[in-house]
Amino acid sequence: MDTRKGGHRYCPSCKKIVETRVLLEGYSQLEVQGIPAKKRQVICGTDAEGSNGCGAKWFTLEMLEEKVLGKGGKRG
Ligand SMILES: [Zn+2]
Repeated sequence: MDTRKGGHRYCPSCKKIVETRVLLEGYSQLEVQGIPAKKRQVICGTDAEGSNGCGAKWFTLEMLEEKVLGKGGKRG
């Protein structure tokens, strides 16, 4: 399984910030309440098998802050 360096995230299983990897096959784009978002599946560990971590998998969403918080207003 292909992975990409995922950085550090809060693991809901370890209940602390851990090193994670992004599982590329879990990637998708979707809309959440009309806001475009990127969905990623990450794993607790330093490879797709969860080495050096607990191996828990979960999903994260990435959205533009201003779309969520309504800051900045419209431009142009
Ligand atoms: Zn963990």
